Amino acid sequence: MTAARVIIAGGGPVGLMTALGLAHAGVPVLLIEQEPALTIDLRAGSYHPPTLEAMAPYGITDRMLERGIKVRHWQIRDRNNPAWVANWDLGLIADLTPYPYRLHLEQHRLTPIILDILRGEPLAEIQFSARFTGVEQTADGVRVTYERNGERTVVDGAYLIGADGGRSNVRKAIGMPFEGFTWDERFMVISTSFDFQTRGYAKNVYLADPDQWATLFQMPGDVTPYWRIVIPTDINIPEDVLAAPDAVEAWLQNFAPRADERYEVLYNSFYRVHQRVARNFRSGRVLLAGDAAHLNNPLGAFGLNSGIQDAANLIPKLAAVWHGAAPDSLLDLYDRQRHTATVEHVQANSIANKRTMEERDPALRKAHFEELVHTAETPELARRFLINSSMIAAVQRASEVA
Ligand SMILES: Cc1cc2nc3c(=O)[nH]c(=O)nc-3n(C[C@H](O)[C@H](O)[C@H](O)COP(=O)(O)OP(=O)(O)OC[C@H]3O[C@@H](n4cnc5c(N)ncnc54)[C@H](O)[C@@H]3O)c2cc1C
Repeated sequence: MTAARVIIAGGGPVGLMTALGLAHAGVPVLLIEQEPALTIDLRAGSYHPPTLEAMAPYGITDRMLERGIKVRHWQIRDRNNPAWVANWDLGLIADLTPYPYRLHLEQHRLTPIILDILRGEPLAEIQFSARFTGVEQTADGVRVTYERNGERTVVDGAYLIGADGGRSNVRKAIGMPFEGFTWDERFMVISTSFDFQTRGYAKNVYLADPDQWATLFQMPGDVTPYWRIVIPTDINIPEDVLAAPDAVEAWLQNFAPRADERYEVLYNSFYRVHQRVARNFRSGRVLLAGDAAHLNNPLGAFGLNSGIQDAANLIPKLAAVWHGAAPDSLLDLYDRQRHTATVEHVQANSIANKRTMEERDPALRKAHFEELVHTAETPELARRFLINSSMIAAVQRASEVA
């Protein structure tokens, strides 16, 4: 066993991307993933321009584009008032990015692309069925324990990166507080083959409603595109009641009635939503990235995007430290930059988006939509809005932190 490598816990998109970036930069890595293979459950699937730019140098973005759906136009609208529609056109920021759109592609189609490219890196070792269980830090390294096929293994490394998701055992092992709160609702995801463009919806829509907002995403699917709808549900109603075929059908018919025709529902799933940020993204030789470092609600599609942006920020810094081109203190800058972007942009915007979607006060709803429509119809204002909502501002803000 050699200490001359970086150990990464977690083979989700963030761990894979970090491993790829480091190996590509000449840093040997060992990635340990607890599952026997990549997870395929349905999660995020909307990528913003800076994220696509961050993945492009490794050839990931080109492969995503082969399959993904480019969403240049998206909407924020009201479920009850058809006049309240803000139409956004990412073409307005085409001078700022080579990817002036949101790219829709299921997370479980992204991770095999990264893994495939990572397997071509001679400096990368990947172990599945390897569950991180503990870490000890010394002055010049980390000693990491993991279990593989019932056997306990101890490995030494120079640094450990915790990219092991929201319940991060790495974060717990270093005793890092995960500050914030959990929303009262449980979110339900419904997938259907029905094409909501036939009802005037863009391929990505945020629909405000005081009782039940909804977001719609068109996704590529295996053969033909399908739609994912995310709605909040009452935590007191059991999942099997909410997910009963007739209950889902009733919800869809109420949302978009179809005379005498049932919806084809492909699947549904549930998840709890949190707003939490690790107090620091670094503790000595242990670094946190992605969901291990922060969680947010999905309104704005910032979660996975910000995790990839963590990786993109960390890779060149850790590589520079590894190669002796920069002092170890450069890693504190990673913490400061990404923590700031997370708190000021990801947390602030995702919380504000959710509050807007569920606003109950009719006067506030009206004022907000009038402002949104005015913003969308005024190119200079729309441009500023898009720079913020597409996370260009978040990445810019991080780079300004010294
Ligand atoms: C159920 C669910 C639904 C979601 N839906 C949406 C959505 O609709 N829209 C949206 O924008 N975002 C959504 N998200 C958030 C988004 O998927 C995450 O932001 C994204 O997955 C973060 O990537 P990650 O690599 O940091 O973490 P993860 O994707 O969680 O990857 C962490 C990896 O670490 C592994 N791991 C965990 N513990 C250990 C251990 N001890 N040792 C080794 N490996 C370990 C896990 O098996 C996993 O492969 C959802 C998240 C969840 C959990």
